[in-house]
Amino acid sequence: MYYSDKSVVFYDDKFVKAKKVACSPFAQTLHYGYGIFEGLRAYQTASGATIFKAREHFERMKYAAQKLSIPLSYTVKDLENIAYDLLDQNNFKDAYIRPLLFCPDNMRLASSRESILFMGAWKWPRYLGNELLSTCISSIERPNPKSCPVDAKISGLYVSSIMATNEARSKGYEEAIMLDQNGFVAQASGANIFYEKDGELFTPPAGHILAGITRKVIMDLARERDIRVTEKQVTIQELKQADMAMLTGTAVEVALIGSVDEAKFKRNVKNSKCGELAKSFADLVHSAFEPAYTII
Ligand code: PMP
Repeated sequence: MYYSDKSVVFYDDKFVKAKKVACSPFAQTLHYGYGIFEGLRAYQTASGATIFKAREHFERMKYAAQKLSIPLSYTVKDLENIAYDLLDQNNFKDAYIRPLLFCPDNMRLASSRESILFMGAWKWPRYLGNELLSTCISSIERPNPKSCPVDAKISGLYVSSIMATNEARSKGYEEAIMLDQNGFVAQASGANIFYEKDGELFTPPAGHILAGITRKVIMDLARERDIRVTEKQVTIQELKQADMAMLTGTAVEVALIGSVDEAKFKRNVKNSKCGELAKSFADLVHSAFEPAYTII
């Protein structure tokens, strides 16, 4: 699914065939989750394949590398160029792009002086589908922000996301809503959450969440449309009594939620602000938002 015989990836400073890449079993990241990654999407637009918010994603990657003291020997611009070359080499217009900065052989619990950059891309339709999602409140909490920065995409942080998704699926739900350590709604396993009440939007504040790039775009789109957005601590009860809710993230894009545990949302998608913003987001990513040429 992620690669074929022809796929090309960027690995250890060069483009190579994906099937030729071999990773050492002594890599520090493999054992301890001490690595960072990103997830970006390229869309076919009138000015060719365009990576949505490429700079913002690579700046977040640089921030994560600094936070963890993992050396990153590429600038944000270098990373953007590698991502565009990767799309060209694989002849992709619409694709999901996955950079991973990982640490090579080192079994000590101390920072490496070396790192290896991997970047791969594949066709990945929105992974949560197009129907209204059934979700449940997870018993697995978001990681404690005092133990590891939760505003960075750190490999090891995703263990709790996988556990939360496994739990939700085992109970017959599609996605998990995770709480923070104080019992407030935080986010889904790999996406942010908004709920709608009386025509206004509410979303948990930064602190325990990965305040995503899509979340920010949705907030900007809402404000442009005079839809009020408030960042606040959200209780389970508030979420369950909402008119509608949605998840936002690069992989899920905007996914509308139909229910949380036994509570079903009543609002019709077509009349909801969430539905309106999902449509605006889809239009935005396919528009030539960063033209390859300038009209003077
Ligand atoms: N939370 C987590 C844990 C994520 O992995 C993601 C996906 N990157 C998000 C939220 C959404 O972030 P973004 O909109 O930047 O993709």
